[in-house]
Order: sequence, then structure tokens, then C-alpha cells
Amino acid sequence: MPLIHNLGFPRIGAQRELKFALESYWRGESTDEALEETAAGLRSLHWQQQQELDLVPVGDFSLYDQVLDMSFTLGNLPARIRTLAGSELENYFRLARGRAPQDPKNQDIAAGELTKWFDSNYHYIVPEFDANTRFQLDPSRLLSQVVEARTQGINAKPVIIGPLTYLRLGKARDGSDRLRLLPQLLKEYKALLEALQATGVEWVQIDEPILVTELEPQWQRAFPQTYHELRGTGLKLLLATYFGELQENLQLACELPVDGLHIDTINGRDEISKVIDWLPIHKVLSLGIINGRNIWKSDLNGLLDWLEPIAKRLQERLWLAPSCSLLHVPVDLSTETLIAPDVRDWLAFAVQKLDELQTIACALRHGREPFADALANNAAAITARNTSPKTQSPVVRQAMAQVEPGMASRQSPFATRATLQQESLALPLYPTTSIGSFPQTPAIRQARKRFRQGQLSDCEYEHFLKEEIRDCLQRQEAIGLDVLVHGESERNDMVEYFSEHLEGYIRSENGWVQSYGSRCVKPPILFGDVSRPTSMTVAWAAYAQSQTLKPVKGMLTGPVTMLNWSFVRDDQPRAQTCLQLALAVREEVLDLEREGIKLIQIDEAALREGLPLRRSQWEGYLEWAVECFRLSANGVADATQIHTHMCYSEFNDIMAAIATLDADVITIETSRSDMELLDAFDEFAYPNSIGPGVYDIHSPNIPEVAHMVQLMNKAAQRIPAARLWVNPDCGLKTRQWEEVAPALINMVQAALLLRQKAT
Ligand code: GLN
Ligand code: ZN
Repeated sequence: MPLIHNLGFPRIGAQRELKFALESYWRGESTDEALEETAAGLRSLHWQQQQELDLVPVGDFSLYDQVLDMSFTLGNLPARIRTLAGSELENYFRLARGRAPQDPKNQDIAAGELTKWFDSNYHYIVPEFDANTRFQLDPSRLLSQVVEARTQGINAKPVIIGPLTYLRLGKARDGSDRLRLLPQLLKEYKALLEALQATGVEWVQIDEPILVTELEPQWQRAFPQTYHELRGTGLKLLLATYFGELQENLQLACELPVDGLHIDTINGRDEISKVIDWLPIHKVLSLGIINGRNIWKSDLNGLLDWLEPIAKRLQERLWLAPSCSLLHVPVDLSTETLIAPDVRDWLAFAVQKLDELQTIACALRHGREPFADALANNAAAITARNTSPKTQSPVVRQAMAQVEPGMASRQSPFATRATLQQESLALPLYPTTSIGSFPQTPAIRQARKRFRQGQLSDCEYEHFLKEEIRDCLQRQEAIGLDVLVHGESERNDMVEYFSEHLEGYIRSENGWVQSYGSRCVKPPILFGDVSRPTSMTVAWAAYAQSQTLKPVKGMLTGPVTMLNWSFVRDDQPRAQTCLQLALAVREEVLDLEREGIKLIQIDEAALREGLPLRRSQWEGYLEWAVECFRLSANGVADATQIHTHMCYSEFNDIMAAIATLDADVITIETSRSDMELLDAFDEFAYPNSIGPGVYDIHSPNIPEVAHMVQLMNKAAQRIPAARLWVNPDCGLKTRQWEEVAPALINMVQAALLLRQKAT
């Protein structure tokens, strides 16, 4: 005792091998066999990296997404896919991406919807249901992986998504009740468990993370029913929850007829003593003690202090694991060479986290003595981090202490500001603009790469970027946009760029985390107090403004988005870290204003996704998130126009909070839903200006003038024309000029027609 296990391992590969194999396969440059060979190689490597564990997860590997895998296992494919010819792999990618690789007819089909996996930055393919959904089990993928693992000498613990989480995460297109599908779904689950049992495995991990969310009574009631139904297969079930506290579902979770319960103690440590009291004594309690969502070393001595008495009490009933699947962290710290050694010593990626787990288990088994060295090293790293001057800057602390409420408010109400801004900007009705980025051409990417590799000097790179900015401005002028941007050619990523200019951040080389499918992100690591040594964007914005008579909009990433898209320190509340980011952005905003930039956009693409899983906690989050945005933006004079941008428009539930940001203009995504998303504005009179995106930048299609006019007319039914802007729904960096130029020309044409009609 205690037994150690893992809930899931990152599958993309330490060097993103799976990504490259997938993309080559999708381009038609490699075969099914080659893809499968890479996949099998990665699985095998990952099992080896986990071989010290008593139980190793199997079935957590996926070519695209584990929820999509579950849909295939359960035979829950939408009719539009089921009726198509082709191999299972082709259909798998059709549903994932909207097209099959090497499809001779290049037949496009609507891809499954992508949505965020709980509060993480991982996205899954939403299962589709309707009243007629019929399941049909196909356990072959899972069974063959179990056999594969067992032949390699791995003690496999298959991992599946629980039936209730699976149903809950899906959508019923016809509005029917998903729970009505439960009885037939359970038949398939039961058959799946029986098939797994036949392979000789002892335990199956069944993930039901919806237990950490607020559930309606019928969903709560479905839990005991479900797990009674799944009994009697001879397999032992470990029911896993993670990402939050169980709260009102605690007793329910403890009493389910399963053989073990896994709980995330990073988020739910306060509940553990209650769980120990409630959990029947024949059940295993698996404690998720290593944070699977961040990259910090654990305090092993602190954990042992807490765990030793628990281990004594529970004996072999105690299991230990990371808090959740390690899917959410990068693979291996040992490949990082650029991180300053002191900070590097504070970090742990997936492989290192499993080492920590093992040390803890060994120290619980044999006492701390034999592991004194490892524990002392760990203690030294924890102390070094806690006392490092890099994490505690007196200047930053002082600036935080000097924040006063007035700093977050504009001087005058919107109406007054709007008049002053109009005097200064003299914009037409329905002004046109973009969201900031323009196509990142191969030339731009290559120049950035050469600059990073030292093949381009500072001067040469600066010269290159200035030429790009000029070119971008000329194109925008030719298109006829009213408010121009510099195009963001210097940025690879809207968060990474700023993190590289701020103190308190480091960048990893290979710290990739899967976002969806083959797409990976490399969140920068925010380890210490944040400050801004020099301006980050002013030179580019000022240069751009010097090259045109039209107004240029400055472009920044907001504090909440910086926070939500970084790995952030865990030694202070997120709100405090966000405040530091807000103060840094505020300085940049004021510098831009000083340099004559009259419009400044502060993007908050990730504000909504920071919402806690439980609604009861939304208010607390929104309060500080909104305050941080306001602090970053609202120090400007009345005549300076603040824009913000959000890549979604499910605003109904947070509209009031959005309005209190008090941005002069907000641009949002609405085109894909034909402005239906603006329904929110029926119930809530949004007070300031708004640019409902009329051009879906996610599609290569060129939007038609009439369509955009129609969309804006719909918008004008809800928001007075005087407060409407015309713009695409997001940045254009992933598009090509051949698409962007005609699309924006049409958009400008649409604005002209709207103006004519209005006068
Ligand atoms: N200004 C950014 C851009 O145009 C905004 C990106 C985003 O919202 N995701 O690319
Ligand atoms: Zn966007």
C-alpha cells in the first residue's frame, strides 16, 4: 500500500509526433498503416514511461478525441456519417474534421461540434443524439489496445467515459430528453464491461466528472440506477471524478455501487475527511494528489504530512494518482533547455509528476528515511520558489497596494465619451474595421523563425515587419476600411507575444498541450510577479499610425485572457495574478494613448471560458475578472475609444458583466448563427457600441454583400444603427489574402449600402 495509478497520459507525443503523423495522413502523404504505426509506437512508449505504476491507463490514447472514440465504441454516429461509404478511420475523421482524408470526391460533411472539456482548454467532439438514437457496441478499439498493452507486460486499467457523463456532454438535436436513451445505452455499457472482463483485466476506470457540477434531480437519480445496472460483470469499477468538489453530490458518489472512487484533492481536499467517513469500508479511495492541470512541482513533504495518517487509516484501500488525466500538461521537462535553471527546478511535467507520485507512494510504504535525499531536494525547490525574489517584486506589490477604485472607471459616461470620440475620429455611420490580425503569410512565419534562430538581426527583422505593416495598411486603405490595424505580423500568438515581453513569464520549448485534434498550444508559464519593463506594442502601433491618415487601432491581449491561457502560479489567488497583468496592460494602454493612438482594442477572447464549473461561483469570478479588465482599460481620456473583442456570443448569462466592462465598442462572433445570438440583446439593453461579426472567418467562403447587409439589418432591429460597427467575427491570421481581400471589399460595400439606406 498504497497502490499508484494514472488516469490518462498525454497522447500527442513529447515532440508532437502524433500531430505530424495526423497532418501528413490528412494531406494524403501517408497511409493508414503509417499512422497506426506511429500511434502504436506512442502508446507503447507512454506505457513504458508509466511502467512504475501499479495500474496503467489504456484506452486513453486517441487519434483525435476520447469522447469521439466513445461515440464510435458505442456506435453512436450521426446519420450523415453512417450512410457514407468508406472505412471506419475515414468516417472517424469525417466526423472530427468535416472531411475524410484522401476522399476521392472530396465530399465535405458537417463536422461534429467542438466544445470545451469542462473548464479545461481541451475540446471534444460533442456526441449527437435524438429521440431515435440507437447504440451499437463496437469494443474493438478498446479491446485491441488492452491486448496490445498486456502483451507488452503492462498491467492495464481500461479507461472509459461513464454513461451519464457521455449523455450529459452530448446534445439532443431535437430537444429530446437524453436520459430516455439511458436504458439502451446501459445495455451497451454492460456488454462493453463484459468484453473487457474477458480480456482478463481486473479494474476499469469509469469517468464521471459531471459529478462535480450542479445536477438536476433526475440526473442525480440516474446515478444509482446506472451503477446498479452495471454491476455483476466481475470487473471492478473505479469511478473517477475530477476538476472540482463533489459538494452536494458527495454522498451520492460515495454510495454508488462501485468498487472504488477517485477524487481530485487539488480542488477538493477539504472534502476528503467527509469522503472517508461516508465511503463504505469495502471501497477503494483513490486520491488525486498531484495536480494534473498545472506544471508546478508538488510539495512532497507537505503531502506526506497529510497522507501518512490517511494511509494508516485506510491501509490497502488507499490508492494514489494525479488529480485528473495528465492530458492537460506537457509530456517531459527533461527536453527543456532554455528555462532558467532556478525556475526549471520548480516545474514538473507529466513524466516528472509520475515520479513524484512514486516517491510519495514509496515513502508511505517504507517510511521517509530511505527517500531522504529526494525529499530534501524537493523541499529545497519548494522553499526556493516560495522565497525567490522573482516571485515577489516590491515594486509590483506596491503598485497593487496603490490601486484605488476610481482607477477602474472612465471619467465620463458612455454618451459623453461617444460625442468626444466622434469629434476626434469623425467616423461614418456603420464604421468598418477588422479584429486585428491579417494573414500570417509564409514569408512572415519564415522571417520570425529566422529571427528567432539568429539568422535575422534585430534591425533586419524590424525592417521586415515595418514593410509588412505598410503593405497591410495599403491593402486596408485600398479595401476602404475606416479604422485600420497594423496587422499583428510580429505576433505568433496573442498570449505568447505578450508573455515574452513581460517579467514574471517564461516560455517552454516543448511544453505543448493538446487543444483539439492535432492542434496544440504552448501556454506560457507565469511564475512570478508580472511587470512590464518596456512597452510591448507601442512602436508598431505608432509606426502604423505614422503611415496613414486613417485612425489606427492599437491591439492588446487583456489580462483575463492572458491569465486563462497561461499556466499560472498557484501560490496566490488567480485574482491577484490577474490584477498584476491588468496593471501591466494598463501601462501599455496609457503609453499607446500618449503616442497618439486614439482607439485601443483589448481582446478578452478567453473571459467566458474562465467561468467556474458551478454557477454558484460565477459571480465571484466575474467580479474580479471584470474589475481587472476595467483597470487595464479605463485609465484613458474620454476621447480615447476602448474596444474589446470576444470570440463567442453566448452572452445571455453574462451580459450584465460584459456591459460593466464599459468598453466603448465590443466586437463579437455572431455570423455563424445568423445573428440569432443577438437575442440576448432583446432582454438586456446593451448600452455601448457593438460590432456583431458579419463575416465568418472560420470558413474560406467569401461572404456576399447582400447577406452581410441582411445580417446587419437584423442587428439594427436590436441596437440603434448609431451604435453599430461592421467587422469580421475574429482575426484573419489563419486566412489568405486571396480570401480576405474580396471578403472585406464586400463587407465595406455592405456598409456603404447600409449608410445609404440610413440617410
Ligand atoms: N486580435 C486578435 C486577432 O485578430 C484576436 C484573436 C482572437 O480573438 N482569438 O487575431
Ligand atoms: Zn476572436
